[in-house]
Amino acid sequence: MLESLEKLLILQDRDHHLRRVREELAQLEPEREALRQRLQSAQAALEQVRQRLRQLENERRQLELEVASKQQLIDRYTHQQMQTRKNEEYQALSLEIERLKAAIRQIEDRELDLMEQAELGQKEMATVQDTLRHTENWVREQQTLLQQREQNLRLEYQKLSAERHQLANDLEPSLRQRYERLLKSRGGNVVVGIAHGVCGGCHMRLPPQVVVDCRSDQEIVTCPNCGRILYYKREMDMEVVD
Ligand SMILES: [Zn+2]
Repeated sequence: MLESLEKLLILQDRDHHLRRVREELAQLEPEREALRQRLQSAQAALEQVRQRLRQLENERRQLELEVASKQQLIDRYTHQQMQTRKNEEYQALSLEIERLKAAIRQIEDRELDLMEQAELGQKEMATVQDTLRHTENWVREQQTLLQQREQNLRLEYQKLSAERHQLANDLEPSLRQRYERLLKSRGGNVVVGIAHGVCGGCHMRLPPQVVVDCRSDQEIVTCPNCGRILYYKREMDMEVVD
């Protein structure tokens, strides 16, 4: 194979490699974001339980106040009962006191219910806190791994870039220009093989003369259809020019 063609193939290999590393690097930020979200949702779950417990506690305090104010009324009515001499008023106060006591019993039932809910909430909070701790540890580990991966990728990228720079400089300038132009317009696959008389880039059948030129390995040959640089290896196929 032509030496320049071999150089081009090595350059292309480094470029493919560089592209893979770039893609992997670009993938790091979405992964980081996913970790952040995972942590946030674990924190949000804890906050939700906390808030529910606060609500339960507020509601319970509210009920306690209601009980206290009803108890005050009962005390006042009891006092009034002792003052009055009218039987009618006494009866009315008794009725009112009974009504208040019934209301207090209802409130106390509700309080018990709230306390049970709070107890369940506390248990749930312990579970959620545990989950959050695990998530935090896991996320930290993943972040460290990501950081290591990023460091390795950046090192690899530097190494490949330097190699690439060297390889590109070694090429004859016009060939290099041709390669770089094709790389821009065609993306990754610029130096392609011929298999069964077909261009490995655009997959169009090549004129027999192009195949012959390529096989004779005297100069750089390009695909008349897509402009990619062609190379031929015997093992690709044996019946190309038949
Ligand atoms: Zn082609």
